[in-house]
Amino acid sequence: MKKSKNFLQTIVEKDLQSGKYKEIITRFPPEPNGFPHIGHAKSIFINFGIARDYNGHCNLRMDDTNPTKEDTKYVEALKDAVLWLGYRWEGNIHFTSDYFTQIHEYAIKLITMGKAYVDSVDEEKMRELRGTVTEAGKRSKYAKRTVAENLDMFERMRKGEFKDGEHVLRAKIDMSSANMKMRDPLMYRIRHAEHFRTGNKWCIYPMYDFAHSLSDYIEGVSHSICTLEFENNRDIYNWVLDTLDLTPPRPYQHEFARLGINYTVMSKRKLLELVKGKYVNGWDDPRLPTIAGLRRKGYTPESIVTFCDKVGIAKANSMVDIAQLEFTIRADLNTKVPRVMCVLNPLKITLVNYREKGEKLDASYYPDDVPKKGSRALPFSREIYIERDDFEENPPKGYFRLTPEQPVRLKHGYIIACKEIIKDINGCITEIKAEYYPTSQSGSDSSGIKVKSAIHWVSADTAKRVEVRLYDRLYSSEIPESIEDLNPNSLKVITDALIEPAVVNEKPDERFQFERQGYFYADPIDYTDEKPVYNKIVGLKDSWGKKTKVTLQKSQTKEKKEQIDGEVVAMTPEQEKLFDRYKKELKLNSEIANTLARDADLSAFFEMALKVLYSPINLANIITNEVAREIKQSSKDSLKFTPNQIAELIEMVDKATISNKIAKQVFEEMVTSGANPKEIVEKRGLLQISDPDHIGRVIDEVIEKNYENLEKFRAGNKKLLGFFVGQVLKATGGKANPKLVNQLLVQKLG
Ligand code: ATP
Ligand code: MG
Repeated sequence: MKKSKNFLQTIVEKDLQSGKYKEIITRFPPEPNGFPHIGHAKSIFINFGIARDYNGHCNLRMDDTNPTKEDTKYVEALKDAVLWLGYRWEGNIHFTSDYFTQIHEYAIKLITMGKAYVDSVDEEKMRELRGTVTEAGKRSKYAKRTVAENLDMFERMRKGEFKDGEHVLRAKIDMSSANMKMRDPLMYRIRHAEHFRTGNKWCIYPMYDFAHSLSDYIEGVSHSICTLEFENNRDIYNWVLDTLDLTPPRPYQHEFARLGINYTVMSKRKLLELVKGKYVNGWDDPRLPTIAGLRRKGYTPESIVTFCDKVGIAKANSMVDIAQLEFTIRADLNTKVPRVMCVLNPLKITLVNYREKGEKLDASYYPDDVPKKGSRALPFSREIYIERDDFEENPPKGYFRLTPEQPVRLKHGYIIACKEIIKDINGCITEIKAEYYPTSQSGSDSSGIKVKSAIHWVSADTAKRVEVRLYDRLYSSEIPESIEDLNPNSLKVITDALIEPAVVNEKPDERFQFERQGYFYADPIDYTDEKPVYNKIVGLKDSWGKKTKVTLQKSQTKEKKEQIDGEVVAMTPEQEKLFDRYKKELKLNSEIANTLARDADLSAFFEMALKVLYSPINLANIITNEVAREIKQSSKDSLKFTPNQIAELIEMVDKATISNKIAKQVFEEMVTSGANPKEIVEKRGLLQISDPDHIGRVIDEVIEKNYENLEKFRAGNKKLLGFFVGQVLKATGGKANPKLVNQLLVQKLG
């Protein structure tokens, strides 16, 4: 299926067609002041991707205009990241510092044109003169300096006659511009500091806006793609290039939305704080969202590129669920890596009736339905280890693994049954005496014994001791605000896990699925043959938040496969067809389509609701979250609500009769009372408020109460819009139409 174009591709194609550019040249321009993170991966994906798509090229340029924060080790990390992701830059690496001489000449040209001047007021005065959003600024008295005076002052700045901050060079643009950035922006400042490339050659350094536009021009860049926070800088970008009257073609700036992911932080400054404060073990700590961290954790470059592609290129900032990133790596590894057995928390089992010396079982590394083939000889013997929680003396209902009454299959091996439990003086189980069924071998089972699941295990005499590092989310809060939000359990080290010998001896791969545990990666740094170390890449399914049940399908083949807890099996052809339809036709995202397609109850529910109301995305959302939770907790027959009613509920959301938030409240009542959604809404007066006058009055009250925030907002802190929206929604008990609230607030806040 052909993918639709994103807005950047549309612009690029138009520019090629009109002949504006002969070749598409982009650049990825990081500041080498920290290791790149997955947000940078998105920028790399876009810049290098566009160049590749249109047979152009992309430069890698270090934006090194701030001598005090930059370092060559960061340059190396940036190079590594780009190469590892699979991209190649054109020619040498570029550095803005390569252009310092040219940029300096352009500054002199602007001074000569009367378009730039040396200002000598202090910082505070400068801020004061700048004005506010509602008030025009004023030029300082130094703006009257003549061209000759300015040239002289600027030259003396360059020669190092002044201290840091004594003078600056400013562009002479417009002190009353509505765009505060255009009020005579700084072009050069004095910094007596050694630069990691130019040493002490310069003590004046160009500011971002000035250096960036010119570097783009010097390199012949056609499309200068950056993130949204530079939107207001675009006017300066254009002003610099237009005013200098450069030979065309010249580059233009285009902005896209920054990538944000929950449960983590995404700014080099914050990452540096974590590294410096030793909250993590260096820039490549697998818990960090740095490229180096993800790589060390075991992410593949393909999975990251796929993720960047999937989140899309948009003009509105949004937060992506980290579960989506995890989904991508799982999907990537599912059919690629060998499946092996590793016991993290061993419990010894002695098979009392096993009298052989031991044997080797033939065990495939891959399930039948993946194209990859390969197998190993799996040692089996009288003493084995299983996972401690795969045995329960007093099992809860629905426990499918080994119990005193219930036999279980050893994956690739025999069925075993518990005969005796051995405990220490504290009552802790130290060993299980069990029997195996000689005729029950996997693949040629003639025992007739029924089991409900298969568990992983290792043979005691040949298993290797390994270290396993289990990673969890770095922060426990969805939108972390400070170090205090760090998750204290983000790293758990198990030093005495037991793994089957082939993994260590034969090393069939670097990445593995440890059966029922998740995906793991041989740590590229700490792994030695004496002490193998494996990092957990990701679990087999999302164990956080939205816990939707993945009902595992019993295989259609004659030989019935046991259900394995937590293992994500490949889809059946029917499920795949559903998945395809959900994704392509109904435009559901992959994760939701996956959940629905794999769960017959959920998809049946969804299909019924869809017949009543064609609103696939909203229906799928509530069904894979709220409805799935209820089905899981009770059973599908004891539900008090019907697909019909869910459709009715969503119809009210679609028609903006109620908000999404209210819909959740209504749902909770439907679950307990079984009442009709419409009745609940009427009875409880939950109708959405869409009357602009009504909302307007509430907004006025909220603004009055939060006058200080209003000023901050008007002074440029646009993030406070969210604060105001929240306050208005709260004041209406969540009933105000959020879209309308937004619109009206934007008008009123000015
Ligand atoms: P940080 O705030 O993490 O330091 P930055 O924007 O200062 O990021 P730069 O090194 O200046 O980082 O960025 C290089 C390029 O990567 C820029 O074009 C920037 O817009 C882009 N970029 C940085 N962070 C993100 C992100 N989260 N999503 C998408 N692009 C990003
Ligand atoms: Mg930065």
